[in-house]
Amino acid sequence: MRLVVVGGVAAGTKAASRARRVAPEAEITVYQEEPEPSISECGLPYFLSGMVGSRDRLVARTPDEFAEKDIEVLVRHRVESVDPGSKRLSIRNLQTGETFEDGYDRLVIATGAQAVLPPIPGADLDGVFALRFLTDADGILRHIRDRSPKKAVVVGGGYIGLEVAENLHRSGMDVSLVEAAGQLAGAYGPEVAKIIEDHLREKGVHCLFTGEAVEAFLGNGKGRVRAVRFGEREIEAEVVIAGVGVRPVVSLAHEAGAEIGKTGAIRVDRRMKTSLPDVWAAGDCVETVNLVSGEPAWSPLGDTANQMGRVAGTNAVISPGEEGALEFPGVLETSVFKVFDLAVGRTGLSGHEAERAGFEVASAGMETMSKAGYFPGAGEVFIKLICDAKSGRLLGAETAGSGADKLVDVCATALWGRLSVSDMVNMDLAYAPPFGPTLSPVIQAATVLSGSL
Ligand code: FAD
Repeated sequence: MRLVVVGGVAAGTKAASRARRVAPEAEITVYQEEPEPSISECGLPYFLSGMVGSRDRLVARTPDEFAEKDIEVLVRHRVESVDPGSKRLSIRNLQTGETFEDGYDRLVIATGAQAVLPPIPGADLDGVFALRFLTDADGILRHIRDRSPKKAVVVGGGYIGLEVAENLHRSGMDVSLVEAAGQLAGAYGPEVAKIIEDHLREKGVHCLFTGEAVEAFLGNGKGRVRAVRFGEREIEAEVVIAGVGVRPVVSLAHEAGAEIGKTGAIRVDRRMKTSLPDVWAAGDCVETVNLVSGEPAWSPLGDTANQMGRVAGTNAVISPGEEGALEFPGVLETSVFKVFDLAVGRTGLSGHEAERAGFEVASAGMETMSKAGYFPGAGEVFIKLICDAKSGRLLGAETAGSGADKLVDVCATALWGRLSVSDMVNMDLAYAPPFGPTLSPVIQAATVLSGSL
């Protein structure tokens, strides 16, 4: 059996590796457009500041290492079309420009997502970048090396923009951040946004502009960016990084006839099977379901891409009806990020999302301590729980501050188990002074919220 995988980062390489384990005899080829497979894109912001010292550390496995597992990985190869009737693919070798054909018995599409560059005049100026791949980071670092920029503007206050802002600041640049929405971290409520904003200012990122849409990138007359314009302002910029969002890469699947879901990503069933015969898909290019709202969801995250890749890779190489098929149930959209010393996490639905999904919402937010108050290093942490006002069922949580990463995972587990906030009051969580207050912030917030229902 010949398995072909299109796209060789998180979902694609996971699918290929898993398929190799499940079907030792299968012939497996991965086509990957970028020059490296298995890139740890999540580490890219830290590569910009040198916190991740070497480029190689961000490549989990090279084509030679895949070859040792009998997986052929062809980099700088773009699959240009798929004919699901004849099970043929057309591929362009981007090094030579030549095209050739290949065939498959089973196909996994893992074409991921691409960064959106804002459709703003001047977005093509030298010095304006998006950050998605290692090659984007190479370009940014080349620019930093060649031009030694002192003034940087980050466009977009989502988690990638915030991580980038931190790392450019660490590199010694004077960083301004411009966000079109009324607050930073739009996936969170206003309390967390305020905590992030205060923390950024405390760390020296003072120029934060929210509710301001960038209108133009201005050049210096030699094709290089010199400023960013919005409203009445023009701020100096020798480098601009736009973190204004990503979109799923679906053209290959769409042109082959695969159904596209409501979110714009490829529709798959619980086995990660597309609507095309013998074609599975996984990762940032697919749509899944939010397990709290039951609505279609697009959740472009690295851990989710790996989990989906495992399911797609397994199912793609077992025979129909054969035991061992796996399912991917959906997501809570749990995520966490760091900005300077602040950890920020969320899981499930925000208050607004829960209302939009038709729930009657109750919530409680509180600031508490991350360790016993007397213990050295105790810091503040914010936690907000969102629940269904009628049943008390937990619908979501947001955390920010010291130890927020642990708290969000506890909440995600409670959400996964469909617990109510009154169930959570007596959860048996660990306690010792160096690790938390006597009652976990999760229990404290659940007590307040269940008491208010
Ligand atoms: P991708 O990583 O997009 O890979 C798809 C690959 O397919 C690409 O290399 C592309 O070139 C290739 N491809 C596309 N079309 C073709 C074709 N036709 N032929 C051949 N190859 C093709 N997630 C987290 O969970 N936590 C984090 O902290 C986090 N931080 C991030 C920070 C940054 C800066 C970025 C950019 C992303 C971050 N992510 C994070 C998201 C995470 O990196 C992605 O969810 C993950 O990489 C998705 O993997 P994927 O395999 O689905 O797609």
